Amino acid sequence: MRARKRIGLVAHDARKAHLVDWIRQHREVLSEHELWATGTTGREIEAGTGLQIERLKSGPLGGDAQLGAMIAEGRLDVLIFFSDPLSALPHDVDVKALIRLSTLYNIALACNRTTADFLIGSPLFAADYAVQALDAGAYLARKLD
Ligand code: PGA
Repeated sequence: MRARKRIGLVAHDARKAHLVDWIRQHREVLSEHELWATGTTGREIEAGTGLQIERLKSGPLGGDAQLGAMIAEGRLDVLIFFSDPLSALPHDVDVKALIRLSTLYNIALACNRTTADFLIGSPLFAADYAVQALDAGAYLARKLD
């Protein structure tokens, strides 16, 4: 991945203000990168920080799935996902899929503020980085009875 990262930003409703606050704190660094967000998260970030965001659909309307597709297609490097572990969500399967694809494709994933701080504080955040790519050879070559 290049020094200029492609970053996805998502926050569930109870966490949106925290994400906007975190982005304000790191506005200068984040303004050097390409930013995507699910619909309502993106609206709040734009209103709260003035940063320009590529807005996808709202999460429950397919925005999480759009981010998942970007990951599967190698178009996202980092996902900052302030999830809410205290609420039941209508799109829980999409949330799980997004976390699963982030793990599968080995992108940088932060689901809380501390991890996001560690991530953005890393010297790797602003550097080129060789991601160990997914090796699905054995999976794809498996024999079916
Ligand atoms: P939202 O979606 O930014 O449109 O609220 C986030 C989510 O719940 O996945």
